[in-house]
Amino acid sequence: MAEPDIPWMPKIRDTKILTIRNDADVGLWSGLVTAAVPIFNDKIMKALKYNIVTEGKANVIVKVAGAGKDDPKLGATATHGVARRWKGNQGIEEAEIYLPATPWQSHRNVLQMILMHEMAHAAGLEEHASDGVFMTLPNVDQNGNISATKGGRKMPAFFFTNKTITRMRAIW
Ligand SMILES: [Zn+2]
Repeated sequence: MAEPDIPWMPKIRDTKILTIRNDADVGLWSGLVTAAVPIFNDKIMKALKYNIVTEGKANVIVKVAGAGKDDPKLGATATHGVARRWKGNQGIEEAEIYLPATPWQSHRNVLQMILMHEMAHAAGLEEHASDGVFMTLPNVDQNGNISATKGGRKMPAFFFTNKTITRMRAIW
């Protein structure tokens, strides 16, 4: 059975905005949130919008995994991160994105893909798509081009499939 997508609580959903704070602006992840947020916002077709906040409270916090003792374990071969979401009676109340400290592929395209993929989970999506940023297992060539299948549509330019956008609209 497919896991259903999970909406945020109505108070947040009504605004169509998730604030995001970057606690991962270090090492190879430097500048990635700043770069990825406008691309995500554009490609998700106004289903919702991420707004970067530089301090204080935020709906979604981005971290590099490994600093905290309760952080999820991401292996040295990680091509993905983890999105943790805390749910109340009315939906998601807060979320954290953990990025791998030592991703298997460190091409900037791959890092952007990892981050935007987890931003989609943090926004409430569960089951992966067959193509685009929200696919399960990307193929990456030596130039950092990403595709779902050999000969498939290459990223960048990044995209979400129509089905993924429709699902996002359904919970926002
Ligand atoms: Zn995923």
